Amino acid sequence: MEKEFIAELHDIGKLLDKNSPELKRYNLTGHTFEKFDFGKFGIEKPTSPSWWGQYHHHNKSKINDEDLNTGDSWRDIPQEYRPALFLLILADHLASSISRVLPPIPSGSSNKDESKDKPKDEPKEVLKLWNRDFYKKNKGKYWAAFKSEEDLKKLFEIIDTITSPEEFLSQYNEYLILTPEDEAKPKNITSLYTHIELVGKIYRVLKRHCEIKIESVLELKLNGEAVKTIKEAEGGNRTEGNQNIKKGKWQARFVKCYIKYPHSFVRLQDINLLVKRNKLAEDFFAEYKDYVMFHTSDFISLFLPIGMELKEMFKDFLNNGFFIEYIETIADLGILRSNLDIKVIRERENNKSDITKVFNSRNTRVYRKILLPEMLDKIVPPICDICQINPGKERMKENIKEWICDKCYEVRESGESFKYPDQWQENKIVWFKFNLNTEKLENWLQKAFEKYVDSLNINNAQTIKDEFRSLACQSDFVKDYKGMIKTFWHKASDLAKKPISNYDELGVFLYSGENVKKTIEAFLEVYNEYFPDCEGDYLSPISLSLSISNVKYPIREHFRFFESPEGFINIRNQNIFHSSYDKKEIKWLINNLQSKGLHFLYKLASIYEKTGSEISVIVEIMDKRKSQQDISDLYSKIKIPPEKILNFYRITEVENELYKT
Ligand SMILES: [Zn+2]
Repeated sequence: MEKEFIAELHDIGKLLDKNSPELKRYNLTGHTFEKFDFGKFGIEKPTSPSWWGQYHHHNKSKINDEDLNTGDSWRDIPQEYRPALFLLILADHLASSISRVLPPIPSGSSNKDESKDKPKDEPKEVLKLWNRDFYKKNKGKYWAAFKSEEDLKKLFEIIDTITSPEEFLSQYNEYLILTPEDEAKPKNITSLYTHIELVGKIYRVLKRHCEIKIESVLELKLNGEAVKTIKEAEGGNRTEGNQNIKKGKWQARFVKCYIKYPHSFVRLQDINLLVKRNKLAEDFFAEYKDYVMFHTSDFISLFLPIGMELKEMFKDFLNNGFFIEYIETIADLGILRSNLDIKVIRERENNKSDITKVFNSRNTRVYRKILLPEMLDKIVPPICDICQINPGKERMKENIKEWICDKCYEVRESGESFKYPDQWQENKIVWFKFNLNTEKLENWLQKAFEKYVDSLNINNAQTIKDEFRSLACQSDFVKDYKGMIKTFWHKASDLAKKPISNYDELGVFLYSGENVKKTIEAFLEVYNEYFPDCEGDYLSPISLSLSISNVKYPIREHFRFFESPEGFINIRNQNIFHSSYDKKEIKWLINNLQSKGLHFLYKLASIYEKTGSEISVIVEIMDKRKSQQDISDLYSKIKIPPEKILNFYRITEVENELYKT
């Protein structure tokens, strides 16, 4: 049987330490081996189809401009492998973090001799924008999987013997996550793992939808459009200026999908809807594996060819009452990227007619749309208490009459059903939920990348910033987010319960001031481990919300609070208050708050409530700054409003205070 072309292997050379003393005599340059003299060194040349992935930068990337039937660069590759290489090159461009076609980024260092290898001390490891010391923390582990002569031989063997993408990703995982997609700053910000994972997915999507004819001449068609060169397929790679902006023949889509539901949970078992959502998502990922770039519990990033119907893909979600909000970007492959929508919308709003003209001339489109479940033409009351879509049926439980549709009833009765432990009855409990906001994540990554570029002092910094493609970084970030929550549960499993066993974002525990503090501290600990360089404030993509209430309190209210977290840590005390805190504030409060300040805090809060004036509060604090030094410090140094100090104090320090209103 003919072996598979495994696109993920194209960058295997990046796992090799060319500067290792043992490998000096091979005079290795670049990260591909198409020019390697196998005969001279007595090494066997790989024979599997995957070998031809080594040609993806062939002839200094002249291969992008040449006809795949007649071009010099293509003639080195047997005809039958050219389509795979062609699609691999397209996928590699689409998955990269910064447009690959930009002129090489000049080094900011004083290294004048560009032709020589970079100095040895130049770090080759990945730099995570949110965890800059990530590599150093992996003590003793080295990025390179291959560094000896034996290793080099092994590298070539692997090209022949690996049988699936998954096998390669899992076998080399520990090296792939430490190695950057590109070692040249500022491109060293994504892991090679995520880069090749995305390349592999995009490659297989293109291959599945591309018509390939191998006869006397090769013909590649996507959506009925035949092309002969990479350039012709992609079109220009720029969206501004007047060069490199030509329309391409091949287009595709990136789609950001938000999975939402109108349901309002009446009873505790109704959270089984989330079990349902997770199950539907699992089935979706199994069916559309390669189309899914990355996902969270309620967000899916898709790469799709033209013509693939979202309504069909999401039909099971829609049939179960979920709806899908999405932002779809359609563009030439040369300019398509997952965050192009932001640019298109911004230029439209700024009335930048020259750039908008380029977008229009290339038929670039951005849509914001919604897919709704089938609804009856006429809604005849009573409608379902839970989904508020379907006609409700009368049902009696514990002498309470409810109107619930068949679907919602089925969800309620299905799956595991979580119950509060007996000793929680009549007590206060705390529901909490982690959240990752993917829109905030895109914005945060763009800003963090710009800061990084500025720190490097490089030429054409603005162009590089404009050409940042956040997809791979987002995927890396989401992987760390999932890892962080897993680690949280290792620490907090005695403290809290998971109402849905395979869903890590949601938890609940019996209320006590101590438990609230411990939960927040456990979160801060794992957050600092995974995201030390991502400031925990209102711009933070990650947040934690805690909602405190009596155990009898309607479950829907907790979930309503979780829907739109305002800050980094959001705390709500049923019917009393809700406050948001950033990381700095919460740390200070945990470390510095003393019980003796309570009465003073009440006084400040009531002054603020009565006067609505911050000045009156400051005057009072200045007045008592000697006797109330802790609070005066908190207020003057960290600028935490007194009511926020008081609110935090009420839930963490004084048990009985909770019952005061
Ligand atoms: Zn319903």
